[in-house]
Amino acid sequence: MQGKIIKGIAGFYYVYAEETDTIYECKAKGIFRNRKVKPLVGDMVAIEVLDAAQATGSITEILPRKNELIRPASANVDQAMVIFAATNPEPNFHLLDRFLVMMDYQNVPTVICFNKEDLIGAEEKERLREIYAGADCQIVFTSTYEKTGIDKVCAILEDKTTVLAGPSGVGKSSMTNLLLSDARMETGGISKIGRGRHTTRHSEIFHISGRSYLMDTPGFTSMNLPELEKEDLRFYFPEFEPLEGSCRFNGCVHMNEPDCAVKAAVSDGKIHKMRYESYTTMYQELKEQKKY
Ligand code: GDP
Ligand code: ZN
Repeated sequence: MQGKIIKGIAGFYYVYAEETDTIYECKAKGIFRNRKVKPLVGDMVAIEVLDAAQATGSITEILPRKNELIRPASANVDQAMVIFAATNPEPNFHLLDRFLVMMDYQNVPTVICFNKEDLIGAEEKERLREIYAGADCQIVFTSTYEKTGIDKVCAILEDKTTVLAGPSGVGKSSMTNLLLSDARMETGGISKIGRGRHTTRHSEIFHISGRSYLMDTPGFTSMNLPELEKEDLRFYFPEFEPLEGSCRFNGCVHMNEPDCAVKAAVSDGKIHKMRYESYTTMYQELKEQKKY
């Protein structure tokens, strides 16, 4: 039988098999230890059922992975959705930008969700849209209070495995609960997977419906940068891309060089100042790291 690892705790893997609509508590066979591969949440695996009544089994094989994320440790992720509050607390744009770089580095497309849209007006919404207009990610506004934008979120999640991430206080739990309760009402399936304890300590995948899975991750307060050469950071800012080759110097990193097309675009307001500031801060950080 085949299934998907939805959770891993203390040597046990919980494998959801569509075929029987059951979660099996599995151990991984010794062969994995010898081959130095570790099953990951999100992995598609082959299992041998040991006891059907007790729903226990053994993982015999990890099927080929589409991708593998270091952070959060997972496999076969299609996309990420990062939640920030539109206000209260104010979005930490720099933190958001670091998340975007991290995901892009891992080739995972990201959707930005600004929650608590009930607290902001049309003007502020427009401002948020403008900041990320060139960042090559979809933006969605929601309110878990007024249940606005939730249909859009559901459409985004459809048939995909999505990592849900965000700092705390932004409404991530409210969103997860909302999505899972919708799923429960529609399919009656999710309750079997359960919601676990209140705080998210381990990454865990929830089966929303059909082929939609949501991976809840612990709230983050900081985000490391991937191990990048500082000269390569610019490739993780999609708004710079159309200007590549337009600066006076070949290989311009858009910092202190004269006649820099990117800096000109920032001055003209074609690239948002906030995004460029994030870039220079990260660039400086990568430069400092290399010194040690
Ligand atoms: P988490 O820490 O990201 O999991 O966020 P919670 O779901 O616990 O919500 C944090 C706080 O924001 C709580 O006080 C919620 O009541 C509030 N909150 C969540 N969603 C919304 C929303 O859409 N609008 C408003 N105004 N407040 C919200
Ligand atoms: Zn330049």
